[in-house]
Amino acid sequence: MKDKRAIIIKGPQFQSVRDALRDILFQATRLEKRKFRTKWRSFLVNVDGSRRSINDFAPDELDQFRQLQGQENKLVDLVNRSILKCITCGRGNRNMVYNKAYDAWYCTVCYGLGLDHAQELRQERKKCRKKTVSFERKTIEDHSKTFL
Ligand SMILES: [Zn+2]
Repeated sequence: MKDKRAIIIKGPQFQSVRDALRDILFQATRLEKRKFRTKWRSFLVNVDGSRRSINDFAPDELDQFRQLQGQENKLVDLVNRSILKCITCGRGNRNMVYNKAYDAWYCTVCYGLGLDHAQELRQERKKCRKKTVSFERKTIEDHSKTFL
């Protein structure tokens, strides 16, 4: 995929269709997430209903438990980085911009804020005579450059 890609849908009817499709996919992933969670949580309850400690798990149970948690976390990460929702504000009913540097989608509002901030930093940098900057400043500038 390109470094930056904007998916802009202007017509309100098409936006409604887009939002409905995103909602269907989002609900489907929620159901899958719930399945993983239900399975790994079942390991934490004994047959008699009492609570079970992770320390009581047999090695193969612990592997299964961790594998299920890992699958759930992977699904959550995929959804968070998908076009279904903005990685910054979490909204899913806006036009989106992909930023390859973070392998994530931003809504146009959040992306615009990042772009404005990057442009401000660039202007400050041009005015600044110092060639060296703090590590923190460099990290912020590197992050912001991905929005330009
Ligand atoms: Zn956003």
